[in-house]
Amino acid sequence: MKRKFTRAIFPGSFDPITNGHLDVIERGRKLFDELVIAVGRSPIKNSLFTPEERVEMIAEIITDMPGVSVESFDGLTVEYAKQKKADVILRGLRSLTDVQYEFKLAMTNRSVAGIETIFVMTAAEYGFISSTLIREVASLGGDVSNLVPETVHNRLKERLEYLKNQK
Ligand code: ADP
Repeated sequence: MKRKFTRAIFPGSFDPITNGHLDVIERGRKLFDELVIAVGRSPIKNSLFTPEERVEMIAEIITDMPGVSVESFDGLTVEYAKQKKADVILRGLRSLTDVQYEFKLAMTNRSVAGIETIFVMTAAEYGFISSTLIREVASLGGDVSNLVPETVHNRLKERLEYLKNQK
């Protein structure tokens, strides 16, 4: 059967991108012809990196991944998906708690824009990683080198050092 070309967007805050996100990207790029990582520009609580910095970090990591790109976007995810002519929204699942939230989000997006969301489950070892946890642990001096890509780890150290000197 001839398969239709598919473009997915993977929206999120990515402040910063973690090994859990990367796992979702690796799985997603096997499923879709094109995967656009979409960094939301809407403000988030206790953010550490600007949307531009988040895009930059991701761009460095995906250089060897054909078909994968990164952009930032404003406003509604579904509007952005429409503008990109995306077929589906890709999201990652870590736990049943994620399912509850993601279920509502996916239902809303389908009812307002008719777009489907496809979920992939992360490998068990990434199930506990979140950007919030990374920001918190790193800012308290914990070692997060096993939880984020090396470039992100370096940027985190730099940023936290800078913030410490600002105080
Ligand atoms: P948002 O603020 O939109 O939830 P995130 O950057 O926190 O943005 O997450 C983007 C997507 O990545 C979400 O679908 C989230 O469930 C998923 N995700 C985040 N961390 C992980 C992880 N460790 N394993 C699998 N999926 C994850």
